[in-house]
Amino acid sequence: MYDAIVVGARCAGSPTSMLLARRGYRVLLVDKASFPSDTISTHILWPHGAAVLSRWGLSNALEATGVPPICRPMSFDVGPFALRGTIAANEGRGGFCPRRTVLDNLLLQAAAASGVEVREAFTVDGLLFDGDTVVGIRGRHRAGPMVEDRARLVIGADGVHSLVARQVRAPEYDRRPVAACAFYSYFSDVAQDDIELYVREHCAFGAIPTSDGLHLVMVNWPTREFSVVRADIDGHVQRTLAMAPDLEARVNGGRREEKWYGTAGVPNYFRKPYGKGWALVGDAGYCRDPITAQGMSDAFIDAEQVADAIDAGLSGRGDLEAALAAAEAARNERVRPMYELTNQLAALEPPPTHMQELFVALHDNQAATDAFLSGITGAKPLGNLMSSNTVVSHQPSTIGSDSGTSNGATVRFPR
Ligand SMILES: Cc1cc2nc3c(=O)[nH]c(=O)nc-3n(C[C@H](O)[C@H](O)[C@H](O)COP(=O)(O)OP(=O)(O)OC[C@H]3O[C@@H](n4cnc5c(N)ncnc54)[C@H](O)[C@@H]3O)c2cc1C
Repeated sequence: MYDAIVVGARCAGSPTSMLLARRGYRVLLVDKASFPSDTISTHILWPHGAAVLSRWGLSNALEATGVPPICRPMSFDVGPFALRGTIAANEGRGGFCPRRTVLDNLLLQAAAASGVEVREAFTVDGLLFDGDTVVGIRGRHRAGPMVEDRARLVIGADGVHSLVARQVRAPEYDRRPVAACAFYSYFSDVAQDDIELYVREHCAFGAIPTSDGLHLVMVNWPTREFSVVRADIDGHVQRTLAMAPDLEARVNGGRREEKWYGTAGVPNYFRKPYGKGWALVGDAGYCRDPITAQGMSDAFIDAEQVADAIDAGLSGRGDLEAALAAAEAARNERVRPMYELTNQLAALEPPPTHMQELFVALHDNQAATDAFLSGITGAKPLGNLMSSNTVVSHQPSTIGSDSGTSNGATVRFPR
């Protein structure tokens, strides 16, 4: 009998297991994948997510893999100009963009080193119930025999298509439609020091230094264009990069080393993440379009909050359901503003007037730009950052009153 069985061993499951094992719980962690292995995901870990790794004592191990730091500074090109700045988190050590083969394996090894029993290539086929309470899992290792394992709590860290969420019928709320599709690949020999993101008409794209000296190149289009893009990915990427000629030249000066990876998009939803004998963590409990690259950092923060709640409940210090309800409330309060922004950006519509005014107000105002970039990456609460009025409070002397100009020049955003 385990204290907890965790299904899914990537950004949510391995840390949740590790944190529980570090507190002395007997934990079984299973995944149908073997590690190291990849998954369909780009992998920007913003500085506030990297700070969580630091708290867990894992950032030195990540840096030792050779993946370079990012966001020192970052660049967010809005069309007429780029906003460049640093993000207030992780004590200036920046974020990282590690391949998931690297990061997920590091997290799994950290869980194992903390005493978690790990089973790779183990597929959970169903949950065991006693009445309406989950009491364990049923599954098999590759083509091996079906086995059963029991636990005080089964935690679904099994991602968007969570079997645990499905079998317990976890109530879903505030679902929004899939908005953007994404394609990405890896290039060598690209002249680039740090992360560059670009927003253009009906698309967003970027390039980021990643593991093994490669550069991740990614493009988002509206999801309705998925099949058309898939039929000619290179052509679409080339036409899109042409909207940023300097980046286009640098990417084409390098060489694509892998195939294009793509997805038609990701659903946006919240799920009630707990019930009798079960809990959900990471994408299994809350998912948003990847356009704001929050998923991995969210999974880390969620893992901490859910592990704290489970510890409170299993140790007898508090009521488990009440602690998990508080964790759900804290999650929702923290992510709500970013959920709204993410859904707005994923529509890939031209920026609304208030946002154009904000971009213009930010231009040439470094303190306000740093604050803005810290907000949209998730390091600081978004609050009222999305208003040009906020900028005035950062550096009144440099803000012009004419929101359509910057340094006297007319600024034209895509329509
Ligand atoms: C195109 C794309 C780009 C993205 N880009 C970024 C980005 O740049 N930055 C960022 O922070 N986030 C990004 N994300 C989001 C990020 O990938 C997810 O938020 C994150 O992986 C969630 O981690 P997780 O552990 O909750 O789930 P997952 O990473 O999905 O892991 C779930 C695990 O559960 C296992 N599993 C599932 N079912 C079973 C079963 N029945 N039995 C056993 N094991 C099972 C799977 O094998 C898998 O390993 C992106 C996502 C996509 C799709």
